[in-house]
Amino acid sequence: MKAIVVHQPGRTDVMKIESVAEPLAGPKDVVLKVGACGVCFHDVLTRNGTLRAGIKMPCILGHEIAGTVVDVGRDVRQFKVGDRVASAQRYHICGACNFCRTGRESQCAERKFLGDYGLVGGYAEYVAIEDDNLALIPDNVALDGAAIAACAIGTILNGIRDVGKLQVGESTLITGAGGGLGLHAVQLARQTGAYVIAQTTSPDKVELVRSMGAHEVVLHARGDDFSAQVKKLTDGKGVDVLIDNVGTPLFDAMRKSLGQSGRWIMIGQLTGEFVPFNPAQLFLKNQSMYSVMSTSRRQLEDVLTLMKRGQIKPVITASFPLEEAAKAHELVESGKAVGRIVMRPNG
Ligand SMILES: [Zn+2]
Ligand SMILES: [Zn+2]
Repeated sequence: MKAIVVHQPGRTDVMKIESVAEPLAGPKDVVLKVGACGVCFHDVLTRNGTLRAGIKMPCILGHEIAGTVVDVGRDVRQFKVGDRVASAQRYHICGACNFCRTGRESQCAERKFLGDYGLVGGYAEYVAIEDDNLALIPDNVALDGAAIAACAIGTILNGIRDVGKLQVGESTLITGAGGGLGLHAVQLARQTGAYVIAQTTSPDKVELVRSMGAHEVVLHARGDDFSAQVKKLTDGKGVDVLIDNVGTPLFDAMRKSLGQSGRWIMIGQLTGEFVPFNPAQLFLKNQSMYSVMSTSRRQLEDVLTLMKRGQIKPVITASFPLEEAAKAHELVESGKAVGRIVMRPNG
């Protein structure tokens, strides 16, 4: 089969199309013909060497996978040939540890992230994923949308519902609102009944962000402190919940935008840069900081249900064949992609 294999980190030219053996179904494996694989900033960081933990090269990139089952291992009961399935970012968990038994399998010490660890990823015509890490796609949900259900939307569901516990009557600030995570965060936040303030530096994304459900859009020049605008919209108080899709570059303005007893939910924190920070600034306002890195299978299933009911719309604006992986990465790195983009390895 054709696959994008990365042997060592580097620029986009390290993504080479190679012919590799098709995956065989081990006892717990489900083999998929890949219909779509989301292109995530995580893929860029794996490819360029910023991410080191949990990486084993050579690797086939891509963890946001949806496809059609073409083979199953002897112990697989839940899925059969012909089913359409979506992946939950990983291809292996132990299934027995405390995290796995309590719906927090994304923290399992044995977990293997798709696209990072060996030749198991979605920038390929086929991939084998253990059945614990898959969910059935409802009939009326397209493979493109299902591909991004776990990473781009499930992580946000985790942040807004399960960790942030955002509630009706509260206020929230969504940073990076025009990005792949942000556009879905605005949609989900609006559904909680909270007052939704969205931040972006792209004038051309303001109307789209508003159409996703933002009550107010804070637009500012890159590098400017936008916290005064957020304070003004919240009667000087700051927001209850901060959905932080950007991380370090906005750190100070985000800190000043968070109100008394606010919850700071870190979702996009990948730059590897340090920030000067006095913990008392959080402590004296009784604020808390949480990390949300990934999605459980249950959260994936919940997102697919929301898609089925039309309660959330996946925003996907471009698709690429394997041959154009470099172009896809350049688009994601430039920050100019609107919503998510996907690879379609089988055309
Ligand atoms: Zn992702
Ligand atoms: Zn485990």
